[in-house]
Amino acid sequence: MVEKVWVTYNQVHKLCQESADQILSEFKPNLMVAIGGGGYVPARILRSFLKRDGNPNIPIQAIGLSLYEQIGTDPQVEEIGTKVTRTQWLDLSSLEMANLIGKNVLIVDEVDDTRTTLQYAVTELEKDVATAAQMSGRQGEKTNFSIFVLHNKDKPKRGHLPQDMMSEGRYIAARTVGDVWINYPWEATDIDEHDKMAASKA
Ligand code: 5GP
Repeated sequence: MVEKVWVTYNQVHKLCQESADQILSEFKPNLMVAIGGGGYVPARILRSFLKRDGNPNIPIQAIGLSLYEQIGTDPQVEEIGTKVTRTQWLDLSSLEMANLIGKNVLIVDEVDDTRTTLQYAVTELEKDVATAAQMSGRQGEKTNFSIFVLHNKDKPKRGHLPQDMMSEGRYIAARTVGDVWINYPWEATDIDEHDKMAASKA
């Protein structure tokens, strides 16, 4: 059975706090894109730690992605396909996507498991920002994507991130963990019980 761990709001807060200096010095983000639902709370907490005197708060834009396991109906096809579905995206026709052009964009999610979701987010955002830049004649402005997750599971990944993103350190995981199942506090229906479980495993 998969080992389960419980993470508290307090711990999430401190993981964001711990990573903020590195994010500020290495990425200098102008904008965050939070992948919902798991990326919303970390992005909001992180924003408080990325705020510097005299500078405005870093805006957060939200996208929603869901991972569906597709089990093939064809018995000859053994492979289980994986499909990411957009439940919320940035509008290409309005300013939402154009807002990203030429910026340092920090993509925030709670956990990097198979990496499928992150691969999808980076590939599709890069593609759509390039389209938005072309539509507005701003192809010359380079948009840099970086990633922050609370937890990265140390396991073989199905998805892949751009080579330069990894080699240039534009990927930060506050913690690297084994292939465990993490219970996050915002999923809890009984937060006291959740905190008790976290304390009992500490
Ligand atoms: P991926 O496999 O694409 O890296 O992760 C897809 C999504 O599955 C994550 O964004 C997250 O919502 C969910 N997920 C994967 N592993 C865990 C986990 O250990 N705990 C929770 N709560 N969600 C997870």
